[in-house]
Amino acid sequence: MDQNNHFTRRQVVTGLGASIAAMAISPVISRSGSLSPVMNNHATTAAGNTAAPLENPLNKYPKPPFQPQSQPWPALASKMIPKPDHGETSYKGSGRLTGRKALITGGDSGMGRAAAIAYAREGADVVINYLPDEQSDADEVLALIKKEGRKGVGIPGDLRDEAFCKKLVDDAVKALGGLDILVSNAARQQSHESILDISSEQFDWTIKTNIYAPFWIIKAALPHLPPGAVIIGTTSVQAYDPSPNLYDYAQTKAATMNFVKSLAKQLAPKGIRVNGVAPGPIWTPLQVSGGQTMEKLKKFGEDSPMGRPGQPAELASIYVQLAASDASFSTGQVYGAAGGGGQP
Ligand code: NAD
Ligand code: MG
Repeated sequence: MDQNNHFTRRQVVTGLGASIAAMAISPVISRSGSLSPVMNNHATTAAGNTAAPLENPLNKYPKPPFQPQSQPWPALASKMIPKPDHGETSYKGSGRLTGRKALITGGDSGMGRAAAIAYAREGADVVINYLPDEQSDADEVLALIKKEGRKGVGIPGDLRDEAFCKKLVDDAVKALGGLDILVSNAARQQSHESILDISSEQFDWTIKTNIYAPFWIIKAALPHLPPGAVIIGTTSVQAYDPSPNLYDYAQTKAATMNFVKSLAKQLAPKGIRVNGVAPGPIWTPLQVSGGQTMEKLKKFGEDSPMGRPGQPAELASIYVQLAASDASFSTGQVYGAAGGGGQP
């Protein structure tokens, strides 16, 4: 094998995913007679990094049926059966967000926790917000952030309160010495079979948490965000194809998808990007504390083409990618992760 060709291949491989890496490098290695990485399904890059082995996404995580379970809202990840995977043992960083300062709402569990762990491992300092009842979940996240040698600060409080939203941003800016990543991720989801079952109080609760709080937080954050900063909203497949039992929640996710697109246009001249993540069914506390009926929970994720729900860890790299500076031309975009179903 020609050495130049060998190196060209290796350099190409360095920038590709594990599966492609394994395919591209295997003929080179086996013909040279050296220890074949194909034997253990690992590929080694020119930089000496070892890629993760290929995994079949179908079998990677638990499938339904799930054990019936219910927790009082807002529920703890630590008490779910099985426990969700937020990337605690799997996410590996590579310095993509070194020195960045992130505020993540709902950072104690679910997608917010997966993003918080990944951001810290990519080199960012992270403030997480959550409800006081979720302190034990938050403590686990803060310990993982600190283990990376990054600053991890918890600021509990209820986002339905405008004054608290402003204070949250102010305190986060003080704790971090600035702010350049804002992940508006917290949300309220309660299943109601009929619109007639939704009281004005419940409706207000959902709208305050999912629509007003991001409005208040983004307004408070904007004066602090420098060019290059990013705002990421967690929307949902519900924004595009709403379920009959999620009348109020689904319309707030449509609102999130919509504000991502309007704010992206408004803030592009300031050099601030705004993007969204649209998960499909993901195994998180929101689903076991009134977010689904027990019947739906037992079969959760069954309808997705992969036949299982996603785990928060499977979305971590999306939050990283949307925050990273090399995604500099992506704004007003919504990135889906729904196991083959849903939109966008
Ligand atoms: P989760 O329960 O882990 O996270 C939601 C968080 O919202 C909670 O941890 C809580 O800290 C926070 N929160 C709720 N009300 C609050 C309030 N009044 N004040 C402060 N914090 C409050 O569940 P998750 O599924 O990871 O949810 C994260 C985001 O993902 C939400 O925006 C949700 O709409 C979205 N989403 C989830 C799914 C799914 O299947 N789990 C699918 C699509 C979208
Ligand atoms: Mg939580």
